[in-house]
Amino acid sequence: MFRVGFGNDIHRLADGKPLILGGVLIESEKGAVGHSDADALTHAVTDAILGALALGDIGSHFSDKDERWKNADSFVFLRVAVGLMKEKGFKVVNVDSTISLETPKLRPFIDAMRENLANALEVEISCVSVKAKTGEKVDAVGKSEAIRAEAVIFLESI
Ligand code: MG
Repeated sequence: MFRVGFGNDIHRLADGKPLILGGVLIESEKGAVGHSDADALTHAVTDAILGALALGDIGSHFSDKDERWKNADSFVFLRVAVGLMKEKGFKVVNVDSTISLETPKLRPFIDAMRENLANALEVEISCVSVKAKTGEKVDAVGKSEAIRAEAVIFLESI
């Protein structure tokens, strides 16, 4: 049996905030604003797993009103989702994702993000794709007001 899931996330950018994507701290003038560490890519992948299994969304499991998740490492959320997935009898086949960010260029950080995600998802790095693009200077991404991440995940029963 197979399941497919989709996740999408957006965070506002602000000066002086850290920018963390796929668990990698990226040198950047602006960082993402959020209750947790605001790792949009990891949030999108977590939501994709939850979506594949119709288990709600990241907000229903980890409320942004909950003090426990203030500045939390988003890999905590991802690992919980992976645990739920395994309880349901599924494993990851592959994940594909896209980050939309105007600046900085993310290429030097992509493989480190893939490695972190692959470790948490318990798959080979070849099963994890992370792509990056800009917002072409239009919309909130293009104007450097926001970062967006989207992920699709494919699961198969164990
Ligand atoms: Mg988020």
